Parts: sequence; structure tokens; C-alpha cells
Amino acid sequence: MFGRSLYAVFAVMVLATACGGGQDSYDSVVDKAKNEKKLVIGVKADQPGLGLRTPDGAFTGFDVEVAKYVAKQLGVEPDGITFKETVSANREAFIEQGQVDLVVATYSITDARKQKVSFAGPYFVAGQDLLVRADDSSLTGPETLNGKKLCSVAGSTPAQKVKSEYAKEVQLQEERTYSACVDRVLGGQLDAITTDNVILAGYAAQHNGKLKVVGKPFSTEKYGIGLKKDDTAGRKAVNDALEKMFADGSWTKALQASVGASGFAVPQAPQLERY
Ligand code: GLU
Repeated sequence: MFGRSLYAVFAVMVLATACGGGQDSYDSVVDKAKNEKKLVIGVKADQPGLGLRTPDGAFTGFDVEVAKYVAKQLGVEPDGITFKETVSANREAFIEQGQVDLVVATYSITDARKQKVSFAGPYFVAGQDLLVRADDSSLTGPETLNGKKLCSVAGSTPAQKVKSEYAKEVQLQEERTYSACVDRVLGGQLDAITTDNVILAGYAAQHNGKLKVVGKPFSTEKYGIGLKKDDTAGRKAVNDALEKMFADGSWTKALQASVGASGFAVPQAPQLERY
């Protein structure tokens, strides 16, 4: 009996270590960064200009640059960062389970998500928009969605908005990633993709001439950096890092080099909303 329960405890410990990678035993991401000089950061892997995994396995984009800047302020060099792909639906769970220490993944700050995780930021403000085939002139805004086949991603705020406000008019297909939506619109099975304008601009640039962003944003998406719900010290440190990134010009530079390259007009840095 004793042996078996000891074995069970050991098995749980091994499992916890194997599944981990996140901050596990630390109260704050600040302590983990300081002691281990390592962080696991959740980013998107299929969003050009924001979070994109390149064929050699590296990650690029504005979110990745923000992640690197913040990590450095916490005492972690780029080679101490493990980037882990997150999709829209698993971000809260990855933070809650300690699979990642931070999420920097076009992650809108919402009250519903604040029940499970906390946010530093915002470090960018986007708006929900539509991406359609370049030769489609029938879709000019959310009011023209009637009878159209729309694609978005499960667990995202745009999908939620469509379900609550446009459910009667449109047929919504929910995919796991936005790149899956792009394939279905290019292939003609679906008519449009809805998500944040800045994400859509990246796909329009990637498929130059085939897709266009409608350009009438109909929501406000404030991007935050997700961390554990009770990590007040972490939130403060990440906000301090963002403030520095805005002030020293790195934020504008990173944005111009990534998102700006897709033709997206680079805005002013937003106001942080510390809490
Ligand atoms: N910003 C929105 C969200 O957090 C849409 C983008 C995404 O799914 O990552 O849900």
C-alpha cells in the first residue's frame, strides 16, 4: 500500500514536470524570470506580422518582439525564451495550467477572460473587420453579411460577437486557426473571415492581390499580455516593461517592421490600463 501511494506521488511529480514548462512553483513570473532566466511564452504561429513560425522553427512578428522586449526587462535573454504555439481557444487554459508563463498572442482583454487570467496592457488596439476575396464587391461591412458563409476561430472574441449579434443572418464556420479560414476562403468554400483588422492585413499581404480587408472595424480589441490571475507583481512588471517599450521608441520600431510591412497604418501607443 505504502509503496503504491509513494509511486503514485512520484508519478504525479514526474507528470507535473513533464507537462510543465510554465512557472509551476513560483508565485510570480517575476521570480521565475529572475531565478531561472527562462520563460515559456505563448504566441500565435500562423499570423503573419504578429506571430508566425518560420520554416526553421523560429518565431517572428510584432507579438514576438513585444514578448522579447518584456522578457528582457524581466531579466530573460532571447535564448532563454521558449515560444509555444497557442491558438485562440487554449490561451486561458495554458496560463491556468502553467503550460506557459505569459501569452502574447493577439489576445483581447475581456471581462470574461479576466475571470480566469489577468492582463497587462493594452499594448495595441485593433478592431474586428472582414477579409474577403479581392473580386468580391458584395461584402462591404457587417451589415452585408446576410446569407454569407463566414469563418472565424473557436474561442475568439470575433466568433463570439458574430454568434451573439449576427447569428440570424450568417452561417458561421469555426476553425482552430485563422490560416485554416484563409484556405477555405481562397478555395471558395466560404465567403469571408472575420477577426481583428491587423491580423487580416497580414493575410491580405501574404496573398497579395487575392484577398482584401473590407476596412470598417466594428469592435474594439485591446491586446493584453496574459498572465496568472493572481500575479499582481507580474502584471506590474510587465506593464512597466511595456511603458518603457512605448517610451524608448522600440514599440513603434517593432510595429513598423512587422505589421507596418503589410501596409497597416501604425498607430500611437495606447494608454496602459493598470489594475
Ligand atoms: N483579439 C481577438 C481575441 O483575442 C481575436 C484574435 C485571436 O483570436 O487571437 O479573441
